[in-house]
Amino acid sequence: MRDKICIACGKALPKRPLIVLDGMPASAQDIPDAEGRNEDQGISLHLHQCDFCGLVQFDCEPVGYYKDVIRSGGFSTTMVNLRRRQYEALIETYHLEGKKFIEAGCGQGEFLSVLTEFPVEAYGIEHKADLVELAKSRGLKVWRQFTEDENTVLENTEDGCHGPYDVFLSFNFLEHQAHPVRMLKCLYNNLTEGGLGLLTVPSLEYILKYDGYYELIRDHLAYYTFDTLRFVLAEAGFEVLEEEMVNRDTLSVVVKKRPVTEGAETEVRTTGKTGDADHVGEDSEVRGISSAIAGFVESRQELNLEVDRILNQFDETGRTLAIWGASHQGFTLAATTGLKDRAKYMIDSATFKQGRFAPASHIPIVAPDHFEKEPVDGILIVAPGYTEEIAGIIRERFGSNVEIMTLRSRHIETML
Ligand SMILES: [Zn+2]
Repeated sequence: MRDKICIACGKALPKRPLIVLDGMPASAQDIPDAEGRNEDQGISLHLHQCDFCGLVQFDCEPVGYYKDVIRSGGFSTTMVNLRRRQYEALIETYHLEGKKFIEAGCGQGEFLSVLTEFPVEAYGIEHKADLVELAKSRGLKVWRQFTEDENTVLENTEDGCHGPYDVFLSFNFLEHQAHPVRMLKCLYNNLTEGGLGLLTVPSLEYILKYDGYYELIRDHLAYYTFDTLRFVLAEAGFEVLEEEMVNRDTLSVVVKKRPVTEGAETEVRTTGKTGDADHVGEDSEVRGISSAIAGFVESRQELNLEVDRILNQFDETGRTLAIWGASHQGFTLAATTGLKDRAKYMIDSATFKQGRFAPASHIPIVAPDHFEKEPVDGILIVAPGYTEEIAGIIRERFGSNVEIMTLRSRHIETML
């Protein structure tokens, strides 16, 4: 068998993975129906770290829908306010009034619509056809396209939308890509000289801080730190102007296109704002990451024991338990603990998930109403960002006798 290679720098990955995760959901979005359930099974995921560039990544193929941007929390007030604040700062700092922006992977325009509040030209590309239609129906200048290769010209000649653009936007999309540098080079080639970009990805440090192995999902092939993100950006010809942690768990950067003549291969790597992005694999960050990832094994065992203890208490007292949150975290937790055999069902408000089954664990996904037909004594909420909101719904609709628990960091806590 050929060596697996790093998706960022192309060097061979170490033979030994940092961690092997068994029984994981095969995807967060392909949720099997009654028929598909027979074929769906848990998969083994091998997490590696590249010795050369330091990027932490799975060595598997991407999910089939990696070009699509499917957002579940896009319209939440928190996210919309965050984008508004980011756009405002970007436009003001770099005097971008009247400039052309393009969002690569705009979904149904959740964040592009916020941009239209500002005096700029807003365009978006999205690969998933029905999301393009939704975005267009809301009056947004969106068309169906993907950053296939570095020479792909991002335009829609029918509607007269074309580059070059002054600014690109990319929100939590790069981590799904098996060719992140290619995607970034395509954006580079569609920008004006000195063009800017605003890009976000989930933070690996955040996941490590809480040993959140249940945050790992095959959909996310790469797990970036500021160092490794800077590396892939530099490979594509960008320099990082600003770095910021947003929403506790997300890396956000403002980047600038370097002129080609500067010699992207040599100079870029030594002029980064916060040091040398090359060979990050040789500094202490790497050792830090590999020992931190060892914490996942422990965390997984601990959570397993905790879940068993709770399930045993419920069994002994003849009580029943359900999960709320058909999120990727919920899927992973259910698939890798005793919940898979003993949780009665998984509640989720998203209608397209209802009537289907959680990947790998095959727990039925139901609407909140289902509680009235089949009441349970306890509900474990696994829906980061929405915990309080859901707890409120449970108290109001299902009564105060339902014990509410949540997984928020390393442990399951009871909510009073
Ligand atoms: Zn690498």
